Amino acid sequence: MPFNISAIDQAEMQKLASLVRLLNTLGHNPATSGNYSLRSLTSPEIALVSESAIDKSKFTENNFLPVYYQTRQMHPDYISSNRKSSDETDIHLSIYQITNANCVLHSHMLDALLFADLFKDESFATIEGLELLKGFKGIKTHDLKINIPCFENTQDIASLAELIKPAILGQKNNYGLLLRGHGIYVWGESVEEAKRHLEVFEYIFKYYLNSKRGL
Ligand SMILES: [Zn+2]
Repeated sequence: MPFNISAIDQAEMQKLASLVRLLNTLGHNPATSGNYSLRSLTSPEIALVSESAIDKSKFTENNFLPVYYQTRQMHPDYISSNRKSSDETDIHLSIYQITNANCVLHSHMLDALLFADLFKDESFATIEGLELLKGFKGIKTHDLKINIPCFENTQDIASLAELIKPAILGQKNNYGLLLRGHGIYVWGESVEEAKRHLEVFEYIFKYYLNSKRGL
């Protein structure tokens, strides 16, 4: 059966594609890096994941590919097309399987790498005490700690996609995870919420990098 993307998903894809082009201008996607996805709101068995190796300045809603959670394969309509979803598709799928996220953003922004280096050899980077933490869903006070799971970079994405699950499930407040020397994954229940969470992380990374360097 041909895969028809619903009007609801189409509208979300347009919204996210526009955000991808914006994030590209802000340094999140050097050299075609980074990947983005949506949980389909009308086909519960699939996610819509960005196509590999696309210059993000030219990214459009046509650059999302439907991928099944179960098989981790693209819909048959797309398999013969020579198009390929992101190399990191498995990580997106794992996040959807264990959280309420409907949108996942993966950025290679430099500050995420530098921030993770402040927490070398630690399983989590802990952030605390900043008013902007209230930009995260459900957070009402600056006076708490949020642990961001940190992982070593690897090309074995299938194993990493399994490794992240207990680390995310073990935290009450989950908004993102860091890959050392690589970047950050951020998620939210909508495109707007994921964008807001990314902005919170960016701000907090800058704060730590500027105030706590060398500690
Ligand atoms: Zn990446």
